[in-house]
Amino acid sequence: MKTLNLCSYPNPMILPHRLSSPSLHNVIPPVRSQCSLTHQHPLRFAVLGAGFAGLSVVWHLLKRSPKELNLKIDIYDEVGIGGGASGISGGLLHPYSPKVKPLWEGAQCWNESIKLLRIAEEASLSRDCEIGESTEQYMKAFVVNKRGILRPAMDMKNMTKLNDNAKTCLPCCRVETLNNEEAQGLLPGVLLPFNTAFFMPEALNINPRHYLEELFLACENLVRNSSSHDSGEKQLSLHKTSIHGLSEFEGEYDAVIICLGAKVNMLPEISGRLPLRTCRGVIVHLEPPDDTRCYPEDGPSILSDAWIAVESSRSLNVGSTWEWKSINSSPNVSIDEASKALHELLPKASTIYPGIRDWVFTGARAGLRAMPPLTPLGSLPLLGCINDFIGRNHSCKYWLFGGLGSRGLLYHGWLGNLTAHAVLSCNEEVIPSELTSWKNIKPKF
Ligand SMILES: Cc1cc2nc3c(=O)[nH]c(=O)nc-3n(C[C@H](O)[C@H](O)[C@H](O)COP(=O)(O)OP(=O)(O)OC[C@H]3O[C@@H](n4cnc5c(N)ncnc54)[C@H](O)[C@@H]3O)c2cc1C
Repeated sequence: MKTLNLCSYPNPMILPHRLSSPSLHNVIPPVRSQCSLTHQHPLRFAVLGAGFAGLSVVWHLLKRSPKELNLKIDIYDEVGIGGGASGISGGLLHPYSPKVKPLWEGAQCWNESIKLLRIAEEASLSRDCEIGESTEQYMKAFVVNKRGILRPAMDMKNMTKLNDNAKTCLPCCRVETLNNEEAQGLLPGVLLPFNTAFFMPEALNINPRHYLEELFLACENLVRNSSSHDSGEKQLSLHKTSIHGLSEFEGEYDAVIICLGAKVNMLPEISGRLPLRTCRGVIVHLEPPDDTRCYPEDGPSILSDAWIAVESSRSLNVGSTWEWKSINSSPNVSIDEASKALHELLPKASTIYPGIRDWVFTGARAGLRAMPPLTPLGSLPLLGCINDFIGRNHSCKYWLFGGLGSRGLLYHGWLGNLTAHAVLSCNEEVIPSELTSWKNIKPKF
């Protein structure tokens, strides 16, 4: 067995914290090192994938690891940062279902994602200071939008439900009920089919690729700042390499954390064994035909049968299509596929914001979602140690953080933190059982 730096690694007998009751979910205690951390060999982790999941795990591994620990983290991604669904996503962040019902542990997920966004913002600012760019310009591009999100009622049948749900909204991300006049005040030109809309003033719309680049920079900064004479050495490397199987890592690492999004199913050890379905989504990009028909300066993004994510008053993304069972993960969209998407999305978007009909198509991009099964608590991501699952004796621990579905931005913060905690303490039980119970499901695919 290799020299290990944490005595709780890989001894599963040490179970410092069990978070199976909902009241304890919100407390993630720091990793307690219960032994000498003075071994010369660093603890080595491989993180597969540099999307929302992978980079959140990396940040939390670095943040949570004891100061004295020698730690080496290698990130592997065949494309680079944000190379999968995360980099192309709409960047919409709020903690609600389409009927504005709070999602499972929505407040916790929201708070942890906001924390990561702030960390990335701070890293972005530090870069500005270094290169002397106009901070205002840069932040404008980075934060993109704190304009809130408007959810019009699309169905008379669900109106009562939506109204009831809005009353039980979360204090961290409020939901206000607006009538037509109030909605017009917020977004001139909006058309509400049922004269009611629900407005989430705190909801966000980020630039996902930029966010991930800054989060990676924050990780690099953390490594740089944590190296001093009285602390262990921390190392972080990003490798632009394709992974073909988990056996590539055997003997090299103490733990491998698999964050490959929808392509996780392509690993031979896992293929066809996870309860995940894939679904391709296309987003179209539009610009106004002239300067007189821009989107209102502070107008919110919109969630309806199609969503409109506002990049700026001259740049809108409209999404998304849902092509179930597709395994095409390419971000590139053919002329045919783009034209089909435009014909599907534009009528839906223009039902709420008719002005968009005149906007000009300037491009399209696509991504593949990894959709987890629907449970009574909603569609929850899949977490946990998968050594038993993949069989054989392994000298290294394999962890999964996948199935983020269509809500990766909401889930990545807290679940990345939980995963890092589980990896460092070598204890799956710090993860709420709701997120590991997928192992009891037999996949039908
Ligand atoms: C069209 C669309 C719009 C969306 N909009 C939103 C939104 O507005 N808000 C929201 O919260 N969520 C949204 N989502 C969902 C969100 O994008 C996903 O939940 C999230 O990106 C999943 O993150 P991930 O890190 O698990 O996977 P990914 O982002 O896919 O990351 C996996 C990484 O692994 C790498 N990789 C894969 N296979 C290999 C391999 N064999 N070797 C090496 N590297 C590999 C990839 O290059 C990639 O970078 C959207 C998804 C789509 C498709």
